[in-house]
Amino acid sequence: MLLISPPVAKPCEPPAGIALLSAVLRAHGIPCRLLDANLEGLIYLMERPLIADDTWSRRALKNLPANVAALRDPQTYRSPDRYARAVRDVNRVLAVSSREYGAVVSLADYGHSRLSPLRSADLLLAAEHPDRNPFYPYFSKRLPELLDNLDGGAVRVVGFSLNYLGQALCTFAMIGYIRQRFPGLTIVIGGGLVTSWMKRPGWRNPFGGLVDHLVAGPGEVPLLKLFGVDGAGRQHVPPDYATLPLDAYLSPGFILPYSAASGCYWNDCSFCPERAEGNRYHPVPVGEVLDDLQTLSAEMRPALIHLLDNAISPALLRRLIDTPLPAPWYGFARFREELADADFCRALKRSGCVMLKLGLESGDQGVLDRLRKGIDLGMASRVLTSLREAGIGVYLYLLFGTPAETEPAARRTLEFVVRHRESIGFLNLAIFNMPVCGDDSAAYETEPFYEADLSLYTGFRHPQGWDRKQVRRFLTSEFRRDPAVASILRRDPPLFTSNHAPFFTR
Ligand code: SF4
Repeated sequence: MLLISPPVAKPCEPPAGIALLSAVLRAHGIPCRLLDANLEGLIYLMERPLIADDTWSRRALKNLPANVAALRDPQTYRSPDRYARAVRDVNRVLAVSSREYGAVVSLADYGHSRLSPLRSADLLLAAEHPDRNPFYPYFSKRLPELLDNLDGGAVRVVGFSLNYLGQALCTFAMIGYIRQRFPGLTIVIGGGLVTSWMKRPGWRNPFGGLVDHLVAGPGEVPLLKLFGVDGAGRQHVPPDYATLPLDAYLSPGFILPYSAASGCYWNDCSFCPERAEGNRYHPVPVGEVLDDLQTLSAEMRPALIHLLDNAISPALLRRLIDTPLPAPWYGFARFREELADADFCRALKRSGCVMLKLGLESGDQGVLDRLRKGIDLGMASRVLTSLREAGIGVYLYLLFGTPAETEPAARRTLEFVVRHRESIGFLNLAIFNMPVCGDDSAAYETEPFYEADLSLYTGFRHPQGWDRKQVRRFLTSEFRRDPAVASILRRDPPLFTSNHAPFFTR
């Protein structure tokens, strides 16, 4: 089997999903090969011969090897300006390289002038004309090399791990190519985005003639079944990154991504797509998580461990304190009373924690209660202080325009951020999207958000009239302009954001 991570996703760490699937398949004697077509494709786009027609592009092209090397050099992360220039210049090269295809490829996304990843008709069109995709010269050479032979036997099944919207059009271009050139192969797609599509109410598969199997949720058992293996009750195995080009990622050392659970142990926030999709919480037993992380760290010597969980469980946090990891680590956690305890935070720091991503969403208690966040603002304030005192960076997530929010409430969020500016390292600002399958979508007057059959969100009429336009105006003209907020936002690593932020916390 060949498992592919398609372009475009941030090329800073190897893809965790296919690394886990390949380990499971191999443990059952099924030969499996991995292809990070995202990383390889982006490098191809950067390095192909190009002609620049403006000063910035000429400078970006000339300095490309130095900039790519800089992004892999820990020294660069001591100078945010040097880092930002390298990122923006590398990104410029990708934009220049992809524009003749009507596409805008960046280090974090894929846009197209005519095709939308939210429309199944556009994805089918991308499959019909793979040669119109900017990665075509890369994958039309690379795929035959891999598909003709795998460990002495021909590949029978090709799987795509489709997690982000920025990967959708390229995934379908690659599928179209494989269908034309290797019509006998079985094609499977899974991953977070496919799961969300399939959880949409009234989902009908528009890709039947093109894709053999779509998989919602964890792919291990369905893939084993495809090879005639009953995967229920299978042994736990850690992900296997060894065959991926670990030195080629754009980070100052190997980042080890690891998922200790799927779903979320809290699973109650009213706005949460994870909850709306009904994804169940499946934690890996904490002892096995620690064994995996110790073994993988000893073998692979990561510069950073990225815990991918929606929220690291309290049990895992406590065990990490008892068994510190051999490399620095970061991930999403929830605001909880334990984190307000200065001793707990110091112990967490000793365990290797360099940064926590925390979803506060709002600085208004009434909004938090209505969102069922389970957060008391007084406790959140103490958490931020304890983390700062312990030297753990905070990447804070805020959400504006929820049905519970009003303009005065949004202003209270601004006041909260200003009051805690010394404790907030980085900020992510998002505007609320109503999940199409959430229970809230029935409670508000909704209308199709995008003209798109695959959209995961729906428009809604805000009960207080605090609509997206007003929220956007508030963010641009007031929130972002506040000097305290502006100085936090300036720290955000461009394009790589939270993925590179831990390297700026030390
Ligand atoms: S903590 Fe995060 S993942 Fe969990 S329910 Fe809330 S928003 Fe969803």
